[in-house]
Amino acid sequence: MNPVLHIFPERLRENVHAVVERCRNNGISVMGVTKGTCAHPAVARVMADSGCTWLADSRVQNLERLHAAGLDCSVLLLRIPMPSEIPTMLDQASAALVSMPETISMIEKECAERQRAFQIIVMVDIGDLREGIWPDEAEQIAERIAASPHVHCLGVGANFGCFGGVLPTEANMITLVDTALEIERHLPYKLEILSGGATSSLQLLEEGKLHPRINQLRIGEAMLLGSDVTRMRTIPYLRSDAFLLEAEIVEVRRKPSIPIGEIGADAFGHVPHFEDRGKRLRAIVGIGRQDVVPEDLTPVDDGVSILGASSDHLTLDVEDMGVAPQVGDTLDFTIDYGALLALSTSSYVKKTVHSD
Ligand SMILES: *Cc1c(COP(=O)(O)O)cnc(C)c1O
Repeated sequence: MNPVLHIFPERLRENVHAVVERCRNNGISVMGVTKGTCAHPAVARVMADSGCTWLADSRVQNLERLHAAGLDCSVLLLRIPMPSEIPTMLDQASAALVSMPETISMIEKECAERQRAFQIIVMVDIGDLREGIWPDEAEQIAERIAASPHVHCLGVGANFGCFGGVLPTEANMITLVDTALEIERHLPYKLEILSGGATSSLQLLEEGKLHPRINQLRIGEAMLLGSDVTRMRTIPYLRSDAFLLEAEIVEVRRKPSIPIGEIGADAFGHVPHFEDRGKRLRAIVGIGRQDVVPEDLTPVDDGVSILGASSDHLTLDVEDMGVAPQVGDTLDFTIDYGALLALSTSSYVKKTVHSD
């Protein structure tokens, strides 16, 4: 079956080790974020075996997948829960991110009925404008937590570069730490976790600029792909080949580089633009926007470039390949985060785990 997402857990293991070691040396524990692979068991197992103290995923279904795979470490729902999923969340997770007082009360009610406890991490919005309390709501949220005896606040966390592209800095980390201290002042216990962001916070750590009170990071992209998309960098001490896409050629033909006829919009409503390079050898592989983000693919062969994609066809310029490809040959691509997420989600893409 094709296309295939090839997964190389031993390469991933090197990345997890490198990140966990670097963090440990700075007093920071690592939450392994599995959502980029929909919590693929081979990926989750490497994270759990290689020093990640928690696993985290944004989808309750993915947490179920972790349990089904026999991974019994602590798991966190990495998204503020929908009220309708609180009951299943309680079945699957040890903790969740929370930002609304109402949600805390709903969790409290469900936990009281079940006579059990649940842990939360309060998200603080430091300016990226995705989820999170404003820093001046610290007292209000702490009061709600204190009034919810079955809900235990593990700590606070913040997102960077998720909606607004705001980068983690020494200044906004101070806001996060100050908010944590303010919440703590209104609770009868200490906060265990100050979660200072995701992959994009690694650079602060590397530069020795991460606030000393930050003691946890939630890392996905760096370990999975060795990159940091928010800072537009590849991370020099990590590998970027733990995942590879293979796609199969269904057409090879020499065609003009400019379409012939009156031009409307493409299948996705965009008016395409083309550069006239004369007639070029083109190939089509059997994968499309239903399975992948074409902009997040890089052909492994230098002689291949991506021209565009519709739902089910990815069109390539293969004129500069050393040997012209044939129908039935396959081509390899390295992938970025959006592509990994889509490929993992697509049931049309086979996942193959390699032992080397
Ligand atoms: C996805 C996500 C992460 C992990 O981000 P990476 O950039 O993949 O390291 C951390 N925290 C939250 C809340 C997330 O949604």
